[in-house]
Amino acid sequence: MIQELSYIGIGSPHAEDWRRYGTELLGAMLAPDGPDGAVRLAVDDVDYRIAVHPASEDEFRYAGWGVANETDLHAFASHLESRGVTVHHGDAELLRERQVAGLVWFEDPWGLRHELSWGKAATPLSFRAGRTMRGGFVTGEQGLGHVVFQVPDIARADHFYVDVLGFRLSDRVTVGAGGADSTVDVRFYHVNGRHHSLALAELPGHVGFNHLMLEVEHMDDLGRLIDLLDEHDVEIVQSLGRHTNDLMTSVYIGSPSGLQIEYGFGGLAVDDLSWVARTYTRPSYWGHKRSAAAQAALPGIVKPLAAEAR
Ligand code: FE
Repeated sequence: MIQELSYIGIGSPHAEDWRRYGTELLGAMLAPDGPDGAVRLAVDDVDYRIAVHPASEDEFRYAGWGVANETDLHAFASHLESRGVTVHHGDAELLRERQVAGLVWFEDPWGLRHELSWGKAATPLSFRAGRTMRGGFVTGEQGLGHVVFQVPDIARADHFYVDVLGFRLSDRVTVGAGGADSTVDVRFYHVNGRHHSLALAELPGHVGFNHLMLEVEHMDDLGRLIDLLDEHDVEIVQSLGRHTNDLMTSVYIGSPSGLQIEYGFGGLAVDDLSWVARTYTRPSYWGHKRSAAAQAALPGIVKPLAAEAR
């Protein structure tokens, strides 16, 4: 059973820019570089959770999901194989790079790579925020944060992520007529107390990585990030607002690599025993206004699918 979003990796020609962006703006801590020169960031005592690999174009590389232990990893790998998923076993080199004790990986129907691992390295009392902060990031049992992917077919994606991978639906946001006529069709899934560790948004003909959400413990650390945006020449993609479903007060900002970062405070924790999925017709109570530039561009690191892959 997947229990947390453990880490993520992207590739980018602007990987170096994350040294300043990741620390002085986001407040993460610089970890030692990866073997390929990847810029790596820690947001808690896990030695690193975000890797930006040098690459010729902005690209999603992998999402790392944590399972409890070695037994669970083996059981999950067997389960995936029994459902027809091709499972690759990480070699010693990959385990060293990801700093985990065991790892398997596979791809979703559109080639998004997911890694399952256990035993990720952590150093107690090692985290120091990259800028002045009142507190730290909300991680622990809720993992790194959440990731949102665009997928061309939400029904097919839901089948893979729920029926095969075991993500549990938290709720949906649909705007428009529903089904193929919806202008917005997003599903949110939990694997622990965090309201969602994964969301999938339908974008016909495309696949991609829309945003990574990082949650801070204190509203002041969200406010100060907004104050620092001008100094870092980073644009707001969606203005400060509060979501209807996870109650997160957040702002969406650009990054050096096309990926959006949602920086939030005050997210809801769900109790799986009593949780009932709802359908909301709007994503936010207030705010989250998209900038003109954001409305004109593809959201995040998004690629059109080749015709045969649609
Ligand atoms: Fe989000």
